[in-house]
Amino acid sequence: MNRSAKWSISVVIAFAVALAALALSRFGSGTGTPTAPPSLLLIVVDTLRADHLGLYGYDRQISANLDRFATAAVVYEDAITPAPFTMPAMAALFTGLYPDRTGVTNHSPRHGLGRATATTLAELTGAAGYRTAAVVSNPWLSNRSMGFDRGFESYLVRGPDGERSRDFSAALIAEAALGLLADMGEDPFFLWIHMLDPHMPYQPPAAAAARMGNPSASSAVVRDFVSEARNKQDIYFSGDYPPAEIAATRALYDAEILHVDEQVGRILAALDESGRGNDTIVVFAADHGESLGDHGLYFAHDFTLYDELLHVPLVVRVPGVAPARIGGEVSLIDVLPSLCEWMRLSCAEPMDGRLLPLSPLQGEEVRTVFAASVPYRKRYDRAPRLSLPGPDGRWTMARSNGLKVIRIPRPQGPLWEAYDTDRDPGEATDIASREDLMAMRPALTSWMAQMKASRPPETAAPPPLGKATRERLRALGYLR
Ligand SMILES: [Zn+2]
Repeated sequence: MNRSAKWSISVVIAFAVALAALALSRFGSGTGTPTAPPSLLLIVVDTLRADHLGLYGYDRQISANLDRFATAAVVYEDAITPAPFTMPAMAALFTGLYPDRTGVTNHSPRHGLGRATATTLAELTGAAGYRTAAVVSNPWLSNRSMGFDRGFESYLVRGPDGERSRDFSAALIAEAALGLLADMGEDPFFLWIHMLDPHMPYQPPAAAAARMGNPSASSAVVRDFVSEARNKQDIYFSGDYPPAEIAATRALYDAEILHVDEQVGRILAALDESGRGNDTIVVFAADHGESLGDHGLYFAHDFTLYDELLHVPLVVRVPGVAPARIGGEVSLIDVLPSLCEWMRLSCAEPMDGRLLPLSPLQGEEVRTVFAASVPYRKRYDRAPRLSLPGPDGRWTMARSNGLKVIRIPRPQGPLWEAYDTDRDPGEATDIASREDLMAMRPALTSWMAQMKASRPPETAAPPPLGKATRERLRALGYLR
């Protein structure tokens, strides 16, 4: 379908909404007796780019369990994160709001979810009588001063604090998750599982690495990262390792995905074997992707707004809803408003997100989604095409109908780039001078103004992180 036809098809939306309502009626009062709203299993894999999963077309066989799960679920082909780093992305998923509205625009306690005024998914489900539990390992989420434990009755952290080696294995997370699931019994629940494995340093189990053709389960890049033989700027921005080492490092990233997939498979099997799969919504997502040498960025995220960082997997299995693949942009900010509808939660506050379509017909509505990068960080002063200090110095992006514009602030005025991600998924050819893409610029600048106006004031004195958290963040490459 061409773009203008897509723009004009909104007339079918009402019909499609009615279809989806019909599909969801098993949760409604079709028999005169309202059935219980479904439970919710939310599985997030940190740093997992969509195009490295078979269900999004990857040619390496590393996601058999997720691929199988996707055949019985609704797959969003163009799910976009509003921020290519953990805290803002997860805050957006939990509130249905762009990060500027919650104030969670950076990685620090000063920008924690605890200070956001919006009600979170855990609070909404808790208020509706659900049991709420989470198991996480990412220190940006596990440290209580970041506020992501808001509303959870049970908030488990896996991985010993202070350990510099691999301490966030998906197997540990899965083990804890299986215990939590079993503990739920017949109670309505919301369980959030967050796995960190595809994040640097890539140190997968040896068996997974061997299956990816990297029997040493290491690379010069990972060794330098872990030993701090080179500083992070050199690793992220120079890319001056031999091609064989770059390839070995990419294989390690894939081995991490293979390991995660096996652990997600265990959890999904346990859910279905328990019989709870029939009354549980499963949402699978990533907070952001990873740049593996794309656009000059090696084994990192945060800094750019190309699709290797913004295009994330988003797959939902809603009981009674037929499997589907749905094209067109959606955003992680859409997850909460959709769950409000599907779980009949009382969500009174306005959100930026929209109801996710559950059928391809609904998916025809054209949507513009936005994102902003990490703010300028002095210790990365060699970043190519550096952003400028302050929230207005971030890269920003608008994406609609496969077309994308990126605004990169510079002292002499912004640099604009544009891409046709349908025809050029690698974003190799900048088409910023094309007239229809010029028209997208006002939408982005208008969104930036809205975000600026709704940003809460920064708090003056953030609480200190603590030695153990600082050590764990340092092992992931975040602190010097
Ligand atoms: Zn993350």
